[in-house]
Amino acid sequence: MSRATAVAVGGSFSTTARRRRELAVPVRCSLSAAGLAAVAPILRDLKMKCDTPLPVLRHVADSMSADMRAGLATNGGSDLKMILSYVDSLPTGNELGLFYALDLGGTNFRVLRVQLGGKEERIIDTEFEQVSIPQELMYGTTEELFDFIVSGLARFVEKESTKFHLAEGSKREIGFTFSFPVKQTSIDSGILIKWTKGFAVSGTAGRDVVVCLNEALVRQGLDIRVSALVNDAVSTLAGAHYWDEDVKVAVILGTGTNACYVESIEAIPKLQGSAYGSGKTIINIEWGAFSTGLPLTEFDREMDNESINPGEQLFEKTISGMYLGEIVRRVLKKMAKASTLFGDSFPEKLSVPFSLRQISFIIEEYILNDWMVIHPCYHETETMTLSTPHLCTMQQDDSGDLDKVGLILSGTLGVKNSSLGARKIVQDICDTIVKRGSRLAGAGIVGILQKVEQDSIGQIFQKRTVVAMDGGLYEHYPQYRHYLKEAVAELLGVEVFKNVFIEHTKDGSGIGAALLAAANSKYFA
Ligand code: ADP
Ligand code: MG
Repeated sequence: MSRATAVAVGGSFSTTARRRRELAVPVRCSLSAAGLAAVAPILRDLKMKCDTPLPVLRHVADSMSADMRAGLATNGGSDLKMILSYVDSLPTGNELGLFYALDLGGTNFRVLRVQLGGKEERIIDTEFEQVSIPQELMYGTTEELFDFIVSGLARFVEKESTKFHLAEGSKREIGFTFSFPVKQTSIDSGILIKWTKGFAVSGTAGRDVVVCLNEALVRQGLDIRVSALVNDAVSTLAGAHYWDEDVKVAVILGTGTNACYVESIEAIPKLQGSAYGSGKTIINIEWGAFSTGLPLTEFDREMDNESINPGEQLFEKTISGMYLGEIVRRVLKKMAKASTLFGDSFPEKLSVPFSLRQISFIIEEYILNDWMVIHPCYHETETMTLSTPHLCTMQQDDSGDLDKVGLILSGTLGVKNSSLGARKIVQDICDTIVKRGSRLAGAGIVGILQKVEQDSIGQIFQKRTVVAMDGGLYEHYPQYRHYLKEAVAELLGVEVFKNVFIEHTKDGSGIGAALLAAANSKYFA
C-alpha cells in the first residue's frame, strides 16, 4: 500500500514533538517482591504448558502427515479437508498479456495488475493497491461486502495507464484469491464452506463465491472475466514456482494461516482414478483446522469458547496473527487480577478483546515508518487493545528501560507507569506465546514435507526443496521466522535441513493469482 493510502485509512498520523513528550512513559522502580511472587507461578505454569520440546513437535508433525493422508483418502476423513485446487499445471513462464488479481485475505483486500511478457521478459510491469475492510462489512451481507470489493477494483481498473495493454480481441481477466475455506468445483468456481478469521457475512456460506463476485461486477457494470479462483496459499505457490521450480509447498502466516503443496494424483484415493493430465495437482490443506497434539492452555480454551467458531480452526488460533496478541492479553489479564503487576488497580482496558479492524490502522505504518510515528493512533482509537504487531515491537525492544514495551502497555492497556520488572515479564510472555506458535507452524511444515517424502523417497529430502512463505505475520515478525526455522531444523536434522529452503515470497500471492488467470485464460491457449 502506498503511504498515501495508509494515511487515508488510518486518519491523521502527524507526529509532533509535543505528542512524543506526552507519550513518553516513565519507568517505575522494580516490581515488589509480593507482586512478583503472585505472578511467578502463573508464568511458570504458562511456560510449562506452552513448551514445545522435540517430542511434542515430532508428534505434531507426524499427526499432520497422518491427518493429510486421512483427508486424501475420503472426504471428511480428517480435520484436514485436503481440497482439490483444480490447479494441475503451474505457470510455465510463457504467459503473456495483461491480467488482474483480487485478493481477499481478512485484514485487507488487494488489487493488482501485471503485464506478462513470456519467458524472456517475464513481468514487464505490475501495480497494486490495498484497501482495509471496514469492520461492519465483516458482519454485513454478501452483497455489501462484494459491492465494496468491486467498487475498489473498479477504481483501480479506471487508473490503468498506457503501460498496460490488452491483447486485441481479449478482455480483462482476473484471478480471485479468496482465503477462506472453499469447496472448489472447478478452477473458476467454488462454494464457501464457512467464514473464518472473525468474518460472519450473511448469505455467503454454501454459495459459489465467483457467482457472488460476478453478480457484484454486473451490478457495478464492470466488464471483467473471473478466470481462476484460488486461495492465497495456492496463488503463493503458483507465484513462487514461476521463478523457482523447486517450490513444492506454500505456507501463509497472516491474519489466518493455511498451506498447500504439490501432490501426485496416485496419492489421492478420493479422486477414484479421475484423469489428470500432468499427474500432479495442488492440494489446499486448509491446515488451520488441524488440532491433534497441540499444547493448549486455559487461555486458548477461553479464547476459543468466546470466538465465533468454537472448537474450530485450533491450529490457526494457536499460530496465526489474529490470535497471538489476544492470547497474550488474556494471560496479562489473569496476572493483573492476581497480582500488582501493573500497580494496585486493575487496568480496565485489559478486558477489551482484540478486534481485527483496529489493526488496519497501524500495520502499514509499522512497516513503512519509524516506530514512533504510529503512536498518535493510540489517541485516536479508544478501543485499541493489544495485537500481534504490538508483540512484535515489544519483543524487539532492547532498550535498557524497555521504553517501547512501556509505551505499548500505556497506549493499548492504559498501564501508565509500568515497572521494568513488569515490562520484562510482558516480553517473556510474548516470547512464550510466539515461540509456541512459530515452532508448531514449523512442525506443520515438516509434517507436509515428510508425507511427500514417505510417498516417494528422495523427492524432497535428497534434493533442493523450497517452501514459499507469505503473510504479514511471517513477513514482519523476525523472532517468529527464527523460531519457525529453528524448529524445522531440529526436526529434520542438519543434513536434511541443508536441502530445505524456507523462503519469503513477497507479493507472490497477487502475481500468482494473475498468472493462474493467464494460465486459464479464455483468450490465450
Ligand atoms: P491477510 O492475512 O489478511 O491476507 P496479511 O498477510 O497482510 O493479511 O497479514 C496481516 C496480519 O499479519 C495481521 O492481521 C497481523 O496479525 C500480522 N502482522 C502484520 N504486521 C505485523 C507485524 N509488524 N508484526 C507481527 N504481525 C504482523
Ligand atoms: Mg492474505
